[in-house]
Amino acid sequence: MIKVGIIGNGVASTTAVREIRDKDQTVEIDVFTDERHPYYPRPNLIDLIAKRRTIKETIRYDLDWYKKNDVNLYLSTPVFQIDTKRMAIKSTSMDHEQYDSIMIAVGCRPFIPPFEGLHKNNVHVIRTLDDALDIRKAVEGAGREIVIGGGPLGIELAAAMKEIGGDPIVVTNEDRLLPLQLDDQGSKVLTKQIEKKGIQVLFGFECRELSGDEDVTGIVSAQKDEIKGDLVVIATGVRSNTIIAKNSGISYHHGITVDDYMQTSAKGVFAAGDCMEWNNEWYGIIPWATASSRIAAQNMIEFGSAKFNGITPSNQLQVAGIELTSIGIVNPGFPDYESIVSVDIEGGKYHKAVLKDDVVVGGISLGNRKVALKLRSLITKAEKVTNIKQSLFETE
Ligand SMILES: Cc1cc2nc3c(=O)[nH]c(=O)nc-3n(C[C@H](O)[C@H](O)[C@H](O)COP(=O)(O)OP(=O)(O)OC[C@H]3O[C@@H](n4cnc5c(N)ncnc54)[C@H](O)[C@@H]3O)c2cc1C
Repeated sequence: MIKVGIIGNGVASTTAVREIRDKDQTVEIDVFTDERHPYYPRPNLIDLIAKRRTIKETIRYDLDWYKKNDVNLYLSTPVFQIDTKRMAIKSTSMDHEQYDSIMIAVGCRPFIPPFEGLHKNNVHVIRTLDDALDIRKAVEGAGREIVIGGGPLGIELAAAMKEIGGDPIVVTNEDRLLPLQLDDQGSKVLTKQIEKKGIQVLFGFECRELSGDEDVTGIVSAQKDEIKGDLVVIATGVRSNTIIAKNSGISYHHGITVDDYMQTSAKGVFAAGDCMEWNNEWYGIIPWATASSRIAAQNMIEFGSAKFNGITPSNQLQVAGIELTSIGIVNPGFPDYESIVSVDIEGGKYHKAVLKDDVVVGGISLGNRKVALKLRSLITKAEKVTNIKQSLFETE
């Protein structure tokens, strides 16, 4: 009987469990997580903060799911090392031995810039269910919330805070929102829509310091400007968790490096999801985690049976009714790409298709789900659109 150990219990891990169970009912599966809750999708945390979901509704797989799938789940069990010779997983409580294959699926941690005053009360990050509960409670007692970071997470978080009666301001050092997913015009349209919802946005603010004594009272910029606020959430990106690889002599760069089979530099040890880097590529999004973990799972039970080909990165954002989809190349920056754009600032609509040799290779759709679906389909088909260039954003 094959025995596999999976470190981590996020979407990469549970996707691997499902993939393994689809193919083989007899594999023995152990899953280790440092969290106290069973699996929940992280996007649900925004709903939890906005009080659209209870804790029970946030959790997707309760303990019964693990029982039904015959998985030994070790909650609150941080793993710090793999003994790659003995194929043993070393947790803080004991060694678990003799796995045929091991998968590292430990995700990311929030990246926190070295601001002064980080130790003060009411300074938060958002990654786990417990972080979300802390933030929701803190918003109830706060006058004004400061969200540092103009990426998808910062914006969604601010919208959730607004929904439960908060007064959030989004602060970014960039000159536009979602710099990776949008262009200048798209950011202008999104900013206007967000401001219409009563959320203030401040660009070009280089935060250096969190002010206050024990409790945070605001943030201070490099130019000594201050914004007052009694709750600060730092949403300035993430970094892969590579510490297990480092402790185990396994190669890593930005993430844990893997080959096309998702195998790390250690034979029989695989990595998938946010903690993994493949072919110098890395993403912190669910499609990356699920695609890579399916490949890893297949190779864990039959090595060589599946190869990873990468993904077309895509982001979907729902901010208080604003639909945004950003897929593939959206800011090409080379003359051999063509961009077709349609803008309606007041109506909150922005569409962009990026073409190379008349094939759609990327796109943005703000405010229209049907256009988003059409762009996604055109990108997947990768066929020439020469004859329909003028009607790319028509959906009827
Ligand atoms: C609030 C929020 C909203 C998001 N919304 C979206 C979205 O709309 N769309 C999208 O594509 N992406 C979204 N993301 C990103 C997405 O959630 C991640 O890409 C995804 O969770 C990655 O899955 P993963 O399994 O690789 O890692 P994770 O989900 O981070 O899971 C890693 C697991 O490993 C465990 N772990 C870590 N270290 C150890 C250790 N030493 N020992 C034992 N266990 C350990 C963790 O506790 C966790 O269980 C969002 C993220 C957040 C935080």
